[in-house]
Amino acid sequence: MSVLIFADQAHGKIKKVAFEAVQYGAKVAQQLGTTATALVLGTAANEELEALGNYGAAKVLHVADARLNEVEGTVFTKIIADAVAQEAAQVVIFGHNFDGKAVAPRVAARLKAGFVSGAVSLPDTSNGFVVKKSVFSGKAFANVSINTAVKVIAVMPNTFALEPTAAKAAVATFSPAISDADFKVKVSSVETVSGEVPLTEADIVVSGGRGLKGPENWGLVEDLAKSLGAATACSRPVADTGWRPHHEHVGQTGLTVRPNLYIAIGISGAIQHLAGVNGSKVIVVINKDPEAPFFKAADYGIVGDAFEVVPKLTAAIKQMK
Ligand code: FAD
Repeated sequence: MSVLIFADQAHGKIKKVAFEAVQYGAKVAQQLGTTATALVLGTAANEELEALGNYGAAKVLHVADARLNEVEGTVFTKIIADAVAQEAAQVVIFGHNFDGKAVAPRVAARLKAGFVSGAVSLPDTSNGFVVKKSVFSGKAFANVSINTAVKVIAVMPNTFALEPTAAKAAVATFSPAISDADFKVKVSSVETVSGEVPLTEADIVVSGGRGLKGPENWGLVEDLAKSLGAATACSRPVADTGWRPHHEHVGQTGLTVRPNLYIAIGISGAIQHLAGVNGSKVIVVINKDPEAPFFKAADYGIVGDAFEVVPKLTAAIKQMK
């Protein structure tokens, strides 16, 4: 019996969402009186793997196969199911990010396991196994009871603060029987967005809307983001009109972000935008219209012209450093 956590990596670096999943899994293991094992697929240095011990993994299973550097749902499902069998895992944990969303439901289907996505609480085991999840774009919560022998949980990113220790995990090689024929989809090229903080992993996000008037003014957003070490995002019309790339679009039809701080500049706060950002811990809104709906969702609001307010804010932050 154990808890198995899929620890997602990119370019050999374990993702923050994976540390969160491992920490969550270690707490579940503690609740169940067992240990947590992390599973890492693809090339990663030993120090990266050992560091999963900082978040409570007692053991790391590593499949050091470069074909697994890109996520492929079918083969990942097969490997994770094999690891579940080897470890006699009762609970399987994922991060609720792109990769988790691609793989966790398949694993649950393969194992005939009950599945909760977007978990925001540890399981309540006082009467069964009940996990709280976020529903209706974060507007409500549902308590879901899982009654199957194996349980699959995908943990909502940026929900649990990381509490690293100095502990290191024992690393073991895992060698599932996979062949080229198991890879149903092959990634032929990868476009990387360099020099930026990945949006879904970012602690701080600075986001711009149509109030910025045009792409030529995006320096305002970028300067503020740079001063804070933040990622940049935008509203949908900004991406639709080509001012910004679509991978920055947040909201109902874009990415969901849950940073510690979300700064919205010149964004009205339509419900479809809020759906992707209302899980943020602190929301700051800068808008010249005091009636803008976003102010209702804001923790702090600045009523003013972005072209005056933002440069002053950036200068003040730079001065503080
Ligand atoms: P606007 O609504 O035009 O707002 C601009 C804001 O800037 C205004 O509040 C204005 O007061 C302010 N402003 C103007 N000038 C200044 C200035 N100088 N200084 C400060 N403030 C200024 N939208 C998303 O963002 N994400 C989604 O995923 C998404 N999905 C959608 C799905 C569907 C099915 C539909 C129908 C819509 C969706 N939308 C989405 C669109 C959404 O409804 C809004 O139209 C959109 O969010 C508005 O973008 P905006 O706030 O940038 O622009």
